[in-house]
Amino acid sequence: MPKRLAVLGQPISHSRSPAMQTAALAALGLADEWSYEAIEVAPEDFDERVRALPGEGFVGANVTVPHKLAALAIANAASEAARAIGAANTLTFGDARIAAENTDATGLLDALPESPAGTRALVLGAGGSARAVVWALVDAGADVSIWNRTPEKADGLARELGASAAETVDAADFDLLVNATTVGMGASTQASTDLKSLPIDADALRERHQLVDLAYGAVDTELVRAARARRARVVDGLEVLVRQGAASLRIWTGLDPPIEVMRRAVRSDTWQTKTDPDT
Ligand code: NDP
Repeated sequence: MPKRLAVLGQPISHSRSPAMQTAALAALGLADEWSYEAIEVAPEDFDERVRALPGEGFVGANVTVPHKLAALAIANAASEAARAIGAANTLTFGDARIAAENTDATGLLDALPESPAGTRALVLGAGGSARAVVWALVDAGADVSIWNRTPEKADGLARELGASAAETVDAADFDLLVNATTVGMGASTQASTDLKSLPIDADALRERHQLVDLAYGAVDTELVRAARARRARVVDGLEVLVRQGAASLRIWTGLDPPIEVMRRAVRSDTWQTKTDPDT
């Protein structure tokens, strides 16, 4: 029986996940048995569509905007991370069972070159992905501050997840900087002025800084370019995408994901300027 996988979202047509996961399945020698596709699902159809998937041969699914909360709600088993974050991006189907995990959190940690334990971390944003990032960093032992354009949301998230909220930011006070806002998302030209929307002064970036930008596009984001120009260490959004996808693939197959193959697939030339920044 073929084993089907999918990414569910709306919109979904420009997702990088099918190319990335299909390349990974081939490299693992599973291409004949396993497949991975993109399925567009409207919010009002999500529950019914997910419940139909196991009967159609699906063994698991990634879930992206706008369904991550619904994915946790429909599951009858959830990891501690998914419960604490309040959202899931990975579903696994068993006998009358839907299990939920959030690999955005582990994906971030896996993308970092070293453990964030003991670092002073600044997270920009207080939306869905910021929740996963803050939870992961706090759980890993970082001292986390949150800045958000709407400060009340940063306050609420900080209280809930054991971080602190920051209304003003001096990059010099931090070792690790994570952009989890939509600023920079879908970057398609080098001429952006995205940094004006964020409280980070590019000139304050130093070699000792580790920068992570969850946003990505067809070209590097302005934040990534500024950090690279100042020789800061950089993890870009495509690397985080690869790592969350790899963590999902490990859950479904039980095999070590071929990270390099997945990296090549998400960065391939066939990716034009159209992006789905989240999957
Ligand atoms: P949400 O819509 O949940 O949150 C958006 C966040 O961005 C909010 O904090 C919002 O602030 C902030 N924001 C929006 N516009 C601006 C602006 N002009 N200036 C400053 N802040 C702004 O989005 P997600 O958390 O789902 O996604 C955030 C980013 O992370 C996206 O770019 C997404 O593509 C990327 N992502 C990447 C992943 C990867 O694997 N690389 C995985 C998941 C997400 P406010 O509260 O004030 O509105």
